[in-house]
Amino acid sequence: MIVSRVAYVNGRYLPLREAVIGIEDRGYQFSDGVYEVVAVMGGRVTDWAPHMDRLDRSLKELRIRPPMSRDALKVVAREVARRNRVMNGMLYIQVTRGVARRDHPFPRQALPSLVMTARSIDFAVVARRAEDGIKVATLPDIRWGRCDIKSVSLLPNVLAKQEARDKGAFEAWLVDSEGYVTEGSSTNAWIVDSEGRLVTRPLNAHILPGVTRLTLMKLAAAEGIPVIERPFSVEEAKKAREAFVSSTTAFLMPVVEIDGAVIANGAPGSVSQRLLFAYRTHMAQEAGLPAPSQAEAASL
Ligand code: PLP
Repeated sequence: MIVSRVAYVNGRYLPLREAVIGIEDRGYQFSDGVYEVVAVMGGRVTDWAPHMDRLDRSLKELRIRPPMSRDALKVVAREVARRNRVMNGMLYIQVTRGVARRDHPFPRQALPSLVMTARSIDFAVVARRAEDGIKVATLPDIRWGRCDIKSVSLLPNVLAKQEARDKGAFEAWLVDSEGYVTEGSSTNAWIVDSEGRLVTRPLNAHILPGVTRLTLMKLAAAEGIPVIERPFSVEEAKKAREAFVSSTTAFLMPVVEIDGAVIANGAPGSVSQRLLFAYRTHMAQEAGLPAPSQAEAASL
């Protein structure tokens, strides 16, 4: 059955083709807005609290008023997922400073614009990709100095992702001027060192504080896997025991090649697999589903 997609736009649920925002919306003209991507599993929104914490923070940093309370946002989020018949997939939430006559300073009167959409994702495809692992291509990080804000201004990320795809890689790893990996174009970056410890860059203005990153940190602690927050170079990553990326829609995705250099034996490593299983178990809990077996988790 084909379900016509529905978007929530400033108080109304509309068929996608009728969903419109004013051409003077500051999100459109200045990228003056922020967003969140939340995974939907078993029809439920997952990791809602950390996503809302980050949304609140992004809005606060840009001095945009929250469009509604967290609880009200959750009601709309569930309704958007339901109306789009999304059992497994993603919810997109965007808040901009609103519509106002084009001028750089903040307008006095604009009401923030709130848009939500949802679409299905076949998580079995994601799971199959995780079995093989992905290739990444490194590229200079040319983004601005506030990458900790989840702003809709994603042009450098879009260009990097496309350049990586053109090179036959699935993700781009962005590299700072000193040769250290900041993060992926839409993921956080990790390696496993020779001692079996997880290494990922500490949080500061150069990277997005990933919700998946946060969850993986907690799960690693529970599993007794040490985590070190420090920058790592491209050279170190190429020689690492394992590497992976993390995001809301990719979960934990093993990296098996960096710029053509094969990582270890070219297959996802044991620490990555263990952590991915823990993550899938966490997601099943969030979805109110029974904890999966290893075999079931692989098809989540
Ligand atoms: N880094 C960047 C630049 C991103 O765009 C994203 C997600 O879109 C992430 C990291 C991962 O964040 P999360 O785990 O919250 O999805």
